[in-house]
Amino acid sequence: MDVQRTLRRPISCVGIGLHSGNKVTLSLKPAAVDYGIRFRRTDLGDFEVPATVQNLAGIQLATGLARDQVSVETVEHLLAALVSMGIDNVVVELNSPEVPIMDGSAAPFIYLIQEAGVKRLQTPRRYLKIIRPISISRGDKRIALYPSDHFKVTYSVSYDHPLLRHQSRTIRITEETFIEDIAPARTFTFLKDVEMLRQNGLALGGSLENAIVLGETGVLNNALRFEDEFVRHKILDAVGDLALVGYPVIGHLVAHRAGHALHTEFAAKILEETHAWRFVESPDAVVAPAALGVKQPAPRFAN
Ligand SMILES: [Zn+2]
Repeated sequence: MDVQRTLRRPISCVGIGLHSGNKVTLSLKPAAVDYGIRFRRTDLGDFEVPATVQNLAGIQLATGLARDQVSVETVEHLLAALVSMGIDNVVVELNSPEVPIMDGSAAPFIYLIQEAGVKRLQTPRRYLKIIRPISISRGDKRIALYPSDHFKVTYSVSYDHPLLRHQSRTIRITEETFIEDIAPARTFTFLKDVEMLRQNGLALGGSLENAIVLGETGVLNNALRFEDEFVRHKILDAVGDLALVGYPVIGHLVAHRAGHALHTEFAAKILEETHAWRFVESPDAVVAPAALGVKQPAPRFAN
């Protein structure tokens, strides 16, 4: 049996919002059992927005949440770092609507969590174990979850760009593999899109310091961190978006040409498809065939 975890002590950092370009202070604070991950806007009377699919807001280039018109933008890289480090309960304080972009990856959030330390709580964690496939297709975009004894992700991308015709990777996500192989992978964008974003008042904080920028034939940044950094970042995004399910998922996530819109639509669908999963207290728990036909209670949510 695994127990729920939170941070050992509070920790803060300062960065800029990708879209606004404004300075943001982010603080992570310990929270009690079953609190979940909740964003708290300190500039709006500590209003809370829990990180769950119920609070999904408009998805453009990043994943946003909103409750009673209070929004929190660009949550996915931080969420990916938190859930991959096994943090079930945490208060995420922001004094602005945007999570700071840092270097465009999840690595700075990993350092923050490691600095704060992890504390084990005295209550079992519940995993959502997939027992039947779930999938969504939209044209040539596809995302699915299959039964597996571990959480692993297979992702493939293909773009009309010489560096990105095809990249594919399968990885079993553990704390160690996430830190080594996924967290450092930075977000990427195409130079031809940057001007359009700026004209629309977006990506004002974007630079070669926080994104890989792809020109016509190559990368404008000096070097990539991995040869296939792009597909690794897509895995990072998918792990962060799947965190909105509210429970660690045990299954094999397979995605092709998906993005935030499809990831988050899928996260919501998982919770609706209650016949396709069971709550377990250990990732390798065996779900008895007799249990497959039994109706189970609806999941509880942090809000
Ligand atoms: Zn991303």
